[in-house]
Amino acid sequence: MSEKKTNDNEDLIELKNKRESQSKKTKKNHEKDFSKPVSKEINNIFDSQFLSTDSLRDKTKIITSPNIFTVHLSWKPYKRIVGYAIRYANDNIDKKDWCEVYGILIGKIEENKRIIVKDAIPLVKGGRTGVELEPIHYVDLSQIDSSIYERDIENKKTDFIIGWWHTHPGFGFFFSPVDRETQLGYQIPNPFAIGLVFDHTERTSNFLGIRALRLMDLDRGITSDYDIVELRYDQDKKKINHKINKIIEKITENMEKGLKELEEIENLLLKKTLPQLQKKFGLILGPKRDIKVILDEQDAKMDENKFYTWYPEAFTKKYRKPKFRLKLEAEIEKSKAILKDLREKNQPVKYQESKVKFQKKIKEMISKPNKLINKIMSDFGKKIELIYPIYDYLDTNERKTIEHFEEWISEYFKVLDKFKITIANF
Ligand SMILES: [Zn+2]
Repeated sequence: MSEKKTNDNEDLIELKNKRESQSKKTKKNHEKDFSKPVSKEINNIFDSQFLSTDSLRDKTKIITSPNIFTVHLSWKPYKRIVGYAIRYANDNIDKKDWCEVYGILIGKIEENKRIIVKDAIPLVKGGRTGVELEPIHYVDLSQIDSSIYERDIENKKTDFIIGWWHTHPGFGFFFSPVDRETQLGYQIPNPFAIGLVFDHTERTSNFLGIRALRLMDLDRGITSDYDIVELRYDQDKKKINHKINKIIEKITENMEKGLKELEEIENLLLKKTLPQLQKKFGLILGPKRDIKVILDEQDAKMDENKFYTWYPEAFTKKYRKPKFRLKLEAEIEKSKAILKDLREKNQPVKYQESKVKFQKKIKEMISKPNKLINKIMSDFGKKIELIYPIYDYLDTNERKTIEHFEEWISEYFKVLDKFKITIANF
C-alpha cells in the first residue's frame, strides 16, 4: 500500500490501446466460455464447494505461476466489491466521471494451495485512475485487523487480511506500477497475498468481471511481472450474475435514501444533537486542552519534556468534567454523607426517609437526559434501518460516521448507567 497518490495513467493508456486491438478476440473467448459447461472433473479434484471457475483465457499473455494456487471468491466479498464499485462507475454515470475504488480482502489460506476470500471491505473511493489513502484508512485497517484478531480468538479461526482489491472501470485487468507497489506491500509479508481487480465493463453473462493478480518475482520489486491466478466461485457464475444484478438494483434503489440518512447522522446527530445533549446534560469527560501537532522536532522535544514532567495533579488536569456531571456528583456525595451520618447516629426511620428522598431527587436530575438520549436512540434506529440495505457498500469514512455515533452514545450510556447503579445502591 502506498500513501502517495497513485497514478495508473501511463499503463492505462498503453493497456487501453492493447485492449482495443484485443477486444474482438476477448469477446470471442467469452462466448466460448459461455458455451462450455463447468467441468465436473475439475470440481472433484479441488473443492466441491466451489462450483464455477474462470478459464484463463488469452493464455499467450497469462503466465501461469510455478507454485500454482487458486483463489476462492465467495458471494459476500464479490457482492461488496461490485456493490461499492458500481456506486462510482456504472452506465448511468458519464464515463469520464467514473472513479476507481479500493478495499481489502479478508480470508484464509487452506493447505497452502487455496486462498479463501471471505470478505471484501470497501475502504476508499479514488479518482478516474488511482486511489489516495489517507491516515483514516490506515486507522481503519488496523481496527479491522484487531477486530479479526479478536473474533479469531473467540472462534479459533485464522482469518486475516489476505490482500486487496480495486477497480479499473473500463481499463481491464493489470497491475500498474503503483498497483505493483501496493501489491508488494501485501505480498512481501504474505507470499500468498493477492490483488483482485474488478472492471464492471468486463462483466458478461458468464464472466464476473474480476481477476486475481499477484506478482511473480518479489526480488524485482515493482518491475516484477504479474500473474493471473485462477478464480473459483462457490456458486454457478450464471447464478451469481443473476444475484448480483438484483443487488445492483437494490443498491440503486436504496443508496440515495441511505446516504441521506447517513448525512443526517453526521450533520444532525453528531454535529448538533449530541453536542447539545453534552452541553445541557454533559456526562462525558472532555479534553482539558487541545492536542497540538508540532512539526518542528525541537519544539516537539520541549513539549515532550513538559508533558513528562510529573506532578500529582497531571491526571485530574488532563480532563475536564462537564458542569452537569459535577453537579450530579456533588449531589450524590452530599446525599451519601448525610446518609452515613444518619446511619452512624442510628436513626433508621430518618435514614430510610432521606434515602428515598435523595434517590428521587437524583433520579429526577437524570430523567431529562435519559429521555433525550432515548429519543436520540430511536431517531438513530430509524435511520439505521434505512441505511441497512446499503451498509455493506459503505466505505471507511461512511462507516466511521456510524461508529463515531455508536462510540459516543455508548460512552454516555456507560456513565449514565453508572449513576443509576450508584443511586440504586444508596
Ligand atoms: Zn490499478
